[in-house]
Amino acid sequence: MKVSLAGSTGSIGLQALDVIRQAPDRFEVVALGANRSVAELAQQVAEFRPQVVAIGDTSLAEELAASVPPGVEVLAGQEALATLGEQGDVVLNAVVGFAGLPVTVTALRTGRRLALANKESLVAGAPVVQAARARRGAEILPVDSEHCAIHQCLGDRRHVGPGTGRADGTGSAPPPPVDVSRLIVTASGGPFRGRSRAELADVRVEDALTHPTWKMGPKITIDSSTLMNKGLEVIEAHELFGVDYDRIEVVVHPQSIVHSMVEFCDGATLAQLSEPDMRLPIGYALAYPDRLDRSLGAIDWTRLGRLDFHSPDLSTFSCLALAYEAGRLGGSAPAWLNAANEVAVEAFLEGRLAWLAIPQVVEEVLAAHRPAALREVADVLEADAEARRMAALAVERRAAAA
Ligand code: MG
Repeated sequence: MKVSLAGSTGSIGLQALDVIRQAPDRFEVVALGANRSVAELAQQVAEFRPQVVAIGDTSLAEELAASVPPGVEVLAGQEALATLGEQGDVVLNAVVGFAGLPVTVTALRTGRRLALANKESLVAGAPVVQAARARRGAEILPVDSEHCAIHQCLGDRRHVGPGTGRADGTGSAPPPPVDVSRLIVTASGGPFRGRSRAELADVRVEDALTHPTWKMGPKITIDSSTLMNKGLEVIEAHELFGVDYDRIEVVVHPQSIVHSMVEFCDGATLAQLSEPDMRLPIGYALAYPDRLDRSLGAIDWTRLGRLDFHSPDLSTFSCLALAYEAGRLGGSAPAWLNAANEVAVEAFLEGRLAWLAIPQVVEEVLAAHRPAALREVADVLEADAEARRMAALAVERRAAAA
């Protein structure tokens, strides 16, 4: 299997290379790309010898070209990152945030398997992504642990249809599997589980960056602390599996052992359990329908102890409720939700916005949402840009008032 890896220097990218390193007879890296980490990328090129390497920041192209072996094609710029979507048999999109959209769309439009670790592209660009997913040969294998769990519980691939193309060029989620009554998406609850609003007034960046069970990049770790990550995952689950929002439930499960569940119409519930290790879903998405013959995350049942489940606190962690709202609105609303969240999270990480103000910014921007038809990537970029402008103003207003 020839693998093209976009976002190879991030947390998922590094773990994917570890999976590939352990199965050299199964996988071959044909393309690698990162946004700015040029030294690390050059090191990866030396080890994995891809034919193509792409760097998003054009100012680093010369440095990269000088440090890779002759014969490796060096591409630069954001368009170059998108061309990683048309390399190999499977494209692993591990780009962080909305910037991953072109990779997602290119991979599907060229009829490839997309191993999707970039939920934002599917959430924000669903009408465009679903239309691309309806292309012959195109398929999405979720790398997100929850959706990978649901995919495993659904088992037989007839449960998961392709995206549905519409006459106007947009697409929608596949029809839901007929025998599924509910998807139960588990959430660790993040570092602030159980705290009240008052206790969260002075959250520091370091506190929010400390996740109890998963080691991840900064953006998703903050999203986990606000439950926006779970909100984006609810939309992702709807788009991947076609199940209505009324039948997608989030439960807090602090141990992060049950990665999600599917309840069938006869009352049976299937769950996928493993120790939290992202290399398992990465390997699953790359090797599907086979399984890796290396055990990652196997459970020691004698030490497991207990598994707890309870309802999320939607008033303190209102990002989850906002995501349901945007998902139900559909169209361009999830793009607005996502853009506002990315702006707010960046401002929080830079110390310009309070943690409690993240959902406020998202709510304010979502309330101003103007629906637009998303037929092309350009339409999604426009919706994203408009929402970002509004979110930036909302952040500034709060900074000025503080
Ligand atoms: Mg997840």
